[in-house]
Amino acid sequence: MTSRTKQFLELQGQTNQSPYLIDVDRAEGIYIWDKAGKRYMDMIAGVAVNNIGHRHPKVIEAIQQQLDKHLHVMVYGEYIQDTQLALAENLASILPEKLSCSYIVNSGTEANEAAIKLAKRYTGRQEIISCKNSYHGSTLGSLSVSGNKEKQSSFKPLLPQVQFIEFNNIESLNLISNKTACVLIETIQGDAGLVKPTPEFITTLRDKCTATGALLIFDEVQVGMGRTGKMFAFEHYTIIPDILTLGKGLGGGMPIGAFISSKEIMHSLTYNPMLGHITTFGGHPINCAAANACINVLKEENWIAEAEQKGQLLENILSQASDIKEIRRAGLFFAVEMESTEKVAQVVTNCLEKGLIGFWFLSTPTAFRLSPPLSITEEEIKIAGEIIISSI
Ligand code: PLP
Repeated sequence: MTSRTKQFLELQGQTNQSPYLIDVDRAEGIYIWDKAGKRYMDMIAGVAVNNIGHRHPKVIEAIQQQLDKHLHVMVYGEYIQDTQLALAENLASILPEKLSCSYIVNSGTEANEAAIKLAKRYTGRQEIISCKNSYHGSTLGSLSVSGNKEKQSSFKPLLPQVQFIEFNNIESLNLISNKTACVLIETIQGDAGLVKPTPEFITTLRDKCTATGALLIFDEVQVGMGRTGKMFAFEHYTIIPDILTLGKGLGGGMPIGAFISSKEIMHSLTYNPMLGHITTFGGHPINCAAANACINVLKEENWIAEAEQKGQLLENILSQASDIKEIRRAGLFFAVEMESTEKVAQVVTNCLEKGLIGFWFLSTPTAFRLSPPLSITEEEIKIAGEIIISSI
């Protein structure tokens, strides 16, 4: 073990007992280099963050321009700041009218917590419905609505009045009533190992929320920003949520989150009580500059439109491996199901040795995750596919 690894393990709080331990030197496009000069294909994009690749020049330029103007000047919501306003405008330009008002926060979990608060405040109701096997973040509120009993077990008591339904179980939607403040749901479940909603489920969900006055919150922290072949995953269906939450890929590599609704709904956070959600660093000007550049890149490039075709190419290559049980995919987001947890560990470890980064799912130990930058080329996909096949 190198002295740096020792320091990392001793001085930094750890999340698990066998971290990847890649000693990062730099990153560019779809590649990360370690201190020894080894190059890795980042086939997870920092877990669905670097959708436009690492250090996109337009993101770097936007950050540099903002650096010369100002850093933090005030808590969110008091001063008019160029990059914050431009981001809100940019988001409104790519979202339906019903989702025109953005509140910028620091992370995905904060976006979800604030969205729940907004739904409770707007409806005056207390009950929350979420899904089994969902993941909405790791802070207490988001953990309370993440359907993973094992992850929740040591941190109780959590938020009361949360009920978990089964994703794609239409009958379970009968739990939605006029006592329900909100249904919080990933439009396409990510950490459950990539589960798409059936059109019937998602349409009935929307109808039921509308009929009861419950707010429908789509968590697109992971599946938003082009990942599934549309800018937002809900665009694959014919419905629009009342609140949308974003994070991860929004910032082009910088930390940011957002919850977005109509002006009418959002306004309720300003009274009874006023300051219904407060954040010091939410909407940080540098992060908003990066997010703006990221959205512009996604608008200008053809990567979102190409995600389906590129995803299909990788799926075709991987399908040649007889050891793979199932490939579940949405655009360039893959869950590759193997026969056992051990086999997943073996593939992921072999890939790392061969210079390709794949990763786990929180609620699906028998599958590994692939979510490369959308900027990946077909040539790079073929190379990645070969590495994965040989690792299997
Ligand atoms: N929601 C979903 C669907 C996620 O996948 C994640 C993170 O993986 C989060 C929320 C939490 O985001 P963050 O880690 O930025 O708090």
